[in-house]
Amino acid sequence: MTSATATLEVEGIEVRFGGLVALQGIDLAVEPGEVLGLIGPNGAGKSTLFNVVSGLLPPTAGHVRLNGTEVSRAGPARRARLGLGRTFQNLETFGVLTVRENVLVAAEICRRWARSQHAPEVIADTLVERVGLGHLKFERADALATGSARLLEVARSLATNPSVLLLDEPASGLTDHETDHLGALLRELAGEGLSVVLVDHNANLVMSISHRVAVLKAGRMLTVGRPIDVQADLRVQEAYLGAPVVMS
Ligand code: ADP
Ligand code: MG
Repeated sequence: MTSATATLEVEGIEVRFGGLVALQGIDLAVEPGEVLGLIGPNGAGKSTLFNVVSGLLPPTAGHVRLNGTEVSRAGPARRARLGLGRTFQNLETFGVLTVRENVLVAAEICRRWARSQHAPEVIADTLVERVGLGHLKFERADALATGSARLLEVARSLATNPSVLLLDEPASGLTDHETDHLGALLRELAGEGLSVVLVDHNANLVMSISHRVAVLKAGRMLTVGRPIDVQADLRVQEAYLGAPVVMS
């Protein structure tokens, strides 16, 4: 499987933690402008796959390509330079910095890598507004409610100008209003060519904004398809039966 246009491609990914097979035979390609939902019961391997793609965890087998470049042995910093952005399930903002400073740091780093035509300050101000945090711009990050902190993580990852954005549970802790705003923003960013890979417990969000949905079950890819088909798939419904959450 090789796609000429995929921004992100994983092939034959396998991860073992001692005797536990956390991922096996995972193939996936994400196109520019695509929102791909990644769902599966708790423990299915979603965060593990994100860690493999972002270079935090070396897979036991398989390949990762970013915009056609093989990065299977590259570290997280090189992958970020090659266009990979991500947020974490556990929030990772700089607590003593303000909202604006958090985004500015990322924009400054990006300027050092590349030919961004905009000043970091302009990028930071634009992104803070865009994620809906303009009114909290000068608040310290550690004073933010969870929902706002998640939006800050999104703004900060966008400041590095990624071509692929991995979002791990971005709507957890968000109000319905913030979730709607985030969903609209992600579709808008995809409309501008960004590839978005979205892991979230909020099935409504995932099903409503994803072009395709990939379903992991116990480390294997159960199916990849249109949201409407995935929702109707009996194997998917079965994968969730008895699980503590309906969709994750
Ligand atoms: P998900 O994000 O889909 O809930 P994870 O990717 O976090 O699932 O976990 C997949 C499986 O791998 C789980 O069984 C989990 O306990 C296990 N796992 C994850 N990280 C580690 C690790 N660092 N060491 C050992 N086992 C791990
Ligand atoms: Mg997880």
